[in-house]
Amino acid sequence: MTILDHWVSGAAFTGESTRTAPVYNPAQGVVTKDVRLASTDDVAVAVAAAAAAFPAWSGTSLAKRQQIMFAFRELLNARKGDLAAILTNEHGKVTSDALGEIARGLEVVELATSIPNLMKGEYSESVSTGVDVYSIRQPLGVVGIISPFNFPAMVPLWFFPIAIAAGNTVVLKPSEKDPSAAVWMARLLQEAGLPDGVLNVVHGDKESVDAILTHPDVASVSFVGSTPIAKYIYETAAQHGKRVQALGGAKNHMLVLPDADLDLVADSAVNAGFGSAGERCMAISVVVAVGDVADALIPKITERMGGLTVGDGTRGCDMGPLITREHRDKVAGYIELAERDGARVVVDGRGVAADGAADGFWLGPTLIDAVPTSSDVYRHEIFGPVLSVVRVASYEEGVALINASPFGNGTAIFTNDGGAARRFQTEVTVGMIGINVPIPVPVGYYSFGGWKASLFGDTKAYGPQSVHFFTREKAVTSRWLDPSHGGINLGFPQN
Ligand code: NAD
Repeated sequence: MTILDHWVSGAAFTGESTRTAPVYNPAQGVVTKDVRLASTDDVAVAVAAAAAAFPAWSGTSLAKRQQIMFAFRELLNARKGDLAAILTNEHGKVTSDALGEIARGLEVVELATSIPNLMKGEYSESVSTGVDVYSIRQPLGVVGIISPFNFPAMVPLWFFPIAIAAGNTVVLKPSEKDPSAAVWMARLLQEAGLPDGVLNVVHGDKESVDAILTHPDVASVSFVGSTPIAKYIYETAAQHGKRVQALGGAKNHMLVLPDADLDLVADSAVNAGFGSAGERCMAISVVVAVGDVADALIPKITERMGGLTVGDGTRGCDMGPLITREHRDKVAGYIELAERDGARVVVDGRGVAADGAADGFWLGPTLIDAVPTSSDVYRHEIFGPVLSVVRVASYEEGVALINASPFGNGTAIFTNDGGAARRFQTEVTVGMIGINVPIPVPVGYYSFGGWKASLFGDTKAYGPQSVHFFTREKAVTSRWLDPSHGGINLGFPQN
C-alpha cells in the first residue's frame, strides 16, 4: 500500500511516527493509500523548517512574492483537471463540483497577487511640527493552518496564498481523510518558485493538531472544521498566546416567503441542499416555509430530486458518495430519527441505486417535511444530503427560528419583496446572507465567515480580513532633527 508522506523543506518527509490512517476512494469503498500521522516531534521538524525559512522569505521583495503567486495561479489554472481528479478520488465529489471548488480557491490566489497593494500602510505628514506618523504591516512568522475534509483544496487556499504572500511561512495540516491535494499544491508552489520551507504539510490527527496549537514558534492558527473542535482549537491556541481564527459548523436556513418565485426556490433548494452530497458548510439544510408555501413547494422540490443521479464522481453524475461508511451511516440514522420524531420522509435516500461500486458510501438525496424543531434532525448539523422543511406562520416566526440557532454561518431569504429582504439582512444574526441566492459564499475580495458557533475569533477567512489576520501593524512616529529642535520639554508636543 502506498504511504503518503509529509512535505517539509520542499521534499517528502517520513518522520519518526509509525502511525498511519487509511485513505478511501468513497465511490469504491476501498482503501487506496495510507497517510502518515505525525508525532509531536514530526510537527516540531516542520515548524523548525518554517521558522528557518522565515527570515529570508519575509525579507523577499513584494515584487518577487507577487511573481510567485502569479506563477502559482497560472500553474493551478492549467492543471486544475489533475487536482480535480485527486479531489474526486479521495473526497468523492463529482468532477464539476471539484472544479468549482478549485475555481473558488483560485479567487484567493488572484487576490494574493495584489499583495503589494493590500499591505500598503498609511502616512500622515506633520502630525506635529516636523513629525510624521506612518504604519507598516509585517508578517507574523510561522502560521498554522488546519483544514477539514470537505474542501481539501479550497479551504487550504482560503488561507495559505495570503499568508505566504504577506511574508509568513506555513505549516498546513489537512484532513487525514483526503490529504493528497495539500501535498499536490505544495509541490506546485515549489514549481512556481516558492523557496523550500515556506509551505510545509504535515498529516495527522489530534496529536499533530495539539502539537501545532502548543508549539511556541507558531504565531497563529487558522482552523476550519466542526464546532466542538473549533471551540477547542480557539481556546487552546489562545491559551498558548496565539492569534486564532476557528471556523466551525453550520445549520443553514432558507426562508421562503409566500411571494417568492417557487420554481427558483425549488431549483435553489435542490442545488444548495444536495450539491457535494450536502457536505458543505454553506449547504442549505432547512427550508423554512412561511404560511402554506410548503404545500406548493414540496412537489416542485420532489420533482427535481427525481431527476438527480447519484454515483461515481467521474461518470457525470449529479452527486457523489459521502466521505466514509461511518459518516454515511450516521447521516442515514437521522432519517430514521426523523420518522421516530413524527416528521414525514417525503423522499428517502436510503437504498439509492447508485452508478458506482456496491461498496461505495452511498446515500441518496432525502427530503423530510414537518421536522419538529425539538428533533435532533433539526438541531444538529447533519452534513449530508438531507433537506428538512419546517413550517412557520410568519416572517417574524421564521427569523426568530433562525436567530435562535446556535449556528450563524449562512442563510438565505427568497422573496420578491425588497423591503422584506432588507429587513431580513438587518435582523438576522448570521454572518453571510443570500437574497434569492442560496449559497452566499462571498467572492475572494470580501471575507468569509459566520457568527456565533460558526466562527470563534473575530477574523474571517480570506479577503481584507485575512490580510489583517496574517500581518501585524507597526505605527512609526518620525522626526528628523535639526538644531532648531533642541531644548528640554517634558510635556507632550502640542503643535
Ligand atoms: P473535523 O472537525 O472533524 O476536522 C477538522 C480538522 O480537525 C481536521 O484536520 C482533523 O484532523 C482535525 N481534528 C479532528 N478531530 C480533532 C481533535 N479531537 N482534536 C484536534 N483536531 C482534530 O471536521 P471535518 O469532519 O473534517 O469537516 C466537516 C466540518 O467542518 C463540518 O462541521 C463543517 O460545517 C465544517 N466546515 C466549516 C466551514 C466554515 O467555513 N465554517 C467550512 C468547511 C467545513
